[in-house]
Amino acid sequence: MKVTLVGAGPGGTGLLTLKGFETLQTADVVLYDRCVNKDVLAAIPDSVEKIDVGKRAGHHSVPQDTINNLLLEKAKQGKNVVRLKGGDPFIFARGGEELELLAKNDIPFEVVPGVTSAIAAAIYAGIPITHRDCASSLHIITAHAKDDEPLNIDFGTLVKLNGTLVFLMGVAVINAICENCIAAGMDKDMPAAIVENAAANSQRKFLGTVATLPEIARANKVESPAVIIIGKVCEFSKRYDWFGKKPLRNKRIVVARIKSFKLAKSLEELGCDVIEIPCFKIAPLISHGCMLEKKMENIKDYSWLVFTSGTGVNIFLDYLIERGIDIRELTGVKIACVGVETEKELKKLGIKVDYVPAEYNGAALARGLTKLVKSGSKLLIARAKNGDQDLTNILADVGIAFDDVPIYENIIDTSVNTITLNDFDFAAFTCPSAVEGFAKIATNVDLHKIKVVCIGEKTAVTARMYGMEVYVSAEATIKSMVEKIKELSA
Ligand code: SAH
Repeated sequence: MKVTLVGAGPGGTGLLTLKGFETLQTADVVLYDRCVNKDVLAAIPDSVEKIDVGKRAGHHSVPQDTINNLLLEKAKQGKNVVRLKGGDPFIFARGGEELELLAKNDIPFEVVPGVTSAIAAAIYAGIPITHRDCASSLHIITAHAKDDEPLNIDFGTLVKLNGTLVFLMGVAVINAICENCIAAGMDKDMPAAIVENAAANSQRKFLGTVATLPEIARANKVESPAVIIIGKVCEFSKRYDWFGKKPLRNKRIVVARIKSFKLAKSLEELGCDVIEIPCFKIAPLISHGCMLEKKMENIKDYSWLVFTSGTGVNIFLDYLIERGIDIRELTGVKIACVGVETEKELKKLGIKVDYVPAEYNGAALARGLTKLVKSGSKLLIARAKNGDQDLTNILADVGIAFDDVPIYENIIDTSVNTITLNDFDFAAFTCPSAVEGFAKIATNVDLHKIKVVCIGEKTAVTARMYGMEVYVSAEATIKSMVEKIKELSA
C-alpha cells in the first residue's frame, strides 16, 4: 500500500518517464486531472480504477480537500494509489498539499517527477531558455490570481534580474503581465512568446515582443493551457524551431482506424495533429460452436491455411490457446497469407509462410495459389466475415476446394464523438471498410468536400463512390501513404 504522485508530462506518452509508466502498471487506482493527455490515460491498464478529479487550469471541479481525503481513503483500503498530475507534480500543482494528509496519517508515499510544461513549452518552441549569451537565470511564475485581484508578483525585482521569465496560468491575464513588465522598466522590444498546447501536435506558438504579445494572443484566440515566455532567448525560436519545421506541422489528418496500425504514429512523428477515429471494433467469432471449431476437428483434411490479416492470425492463435490446441497439429499444412503485416505476425510465431504474393490484394493471392495448390487438396481461409470476394471467386472459378471461415467481424463503432471531425486537411483510409465506417460515423461532414488518401485502388473505388476527392498512394504500404500525404501537403 502506498500513494505515488506521478508527473504525466505535458503531452502524450512520449514525455512520460519510464518510472511513471511502470508505476501506472502496478496501480490499483489512479486519480487524474483533466489536463492529463489521453494517450497517458490509455497507458493505464483496463483493470485499474480510474477517477477523474477534473482539475483544469487551476479550477477544481473536485475540491482539493476531497482529493486529499480520497487519496487517504483509498490508501487505507490497502491499495496502490497513483495521483497522476499534468506536467510535474510539484510545479504549481499542489503536490505538496496532497502529501500533507498522507504524512499525518503515516501513509507511505513517493513522488515521480514529470516534464513540466514550463520547460517543455520552451523546448518545443525552439527557445533555449537559459542560453548563456543572454540569460543567467530562469524564473517560473504563476500568474494565477484570486478572482479579480491584481497579480501578486514583484515585477520590479523580476525585471531587474534580467533572466528568462516563464509564466504559467497566464492566458487570461497576459495584458497585465506584459504591462507590468514594461512599467517595471523592461524594454518594450523584449522578445516574448506564447505556446499553446505545448508538446502536442496541436501546439501553436506565437512570437512577438512584450509590447505586442497580448494583441497577438488575442487575435489568434490563444487559449489555456499556454505558457508565456519573456526574454531575449525567445529570439532564437526563429532559428531553432525544430518542432515547427516538421513537414506536416499545422495539418490535421483523420485516420479511420480498423486496428492499431502504424499510420497514426508515423504521421504524428511528422508533426501533424492526428484525429484517430476508431470506426470499428473487432469482434472475434471463436466462441463454442463457431465454424472454426467444426473445421479444426478435421484440420488434417486441409493442405493450406490462408490468412488475409494480422488480426486474423492473432485471433486464430487466441483460438488455439483458449482450446489448448498444440500448434504442431498444423504440421504438414502449408500456410499462405497476403500483406507484409500479416506475414510479420506469422513470423512472430516462428511460422515461415509458404506463399505471399508480391501484390497486396486477394486476387493476387488467389492467382498465386491456383499455381501452387495440388488438385484434390482443400484450403481453409481464416479471415474476417464478408471478406474480399475476389479471393474466393477466383479459387471457385478454377475449381479449388476451400472453406471460407469467418473468425472475426468488423463492427462499426457508432459511439465515436464526431464533434472532433471538423476542419481537417485529409482523411486516410487503409481499407474499404474504413471508408464505409467513416462515412457512417461522419454525419457532420460533407463527404464531397473532403480530400482522402487511400492505400490502394479498391479502397479508392469505395471512397469515390461517396464523392470524396481521392488520392492513392503509389504502393500499398503505410510508408507510401505517408509519402503521398507529405507530397500533397508540400
Ligand atoms: N504541473 C504543471 C503545471 C500546472 S499549472 C506542469 O508542471 O506543467 C497549469 C498551467 O500549466 C496552465 O495554465 C499552463 O500555463 C501550463 N500548462 C500545462 N500544460 C500545458 C501545455 N501542454 N501547454 C502549455 N501550457 C501548459
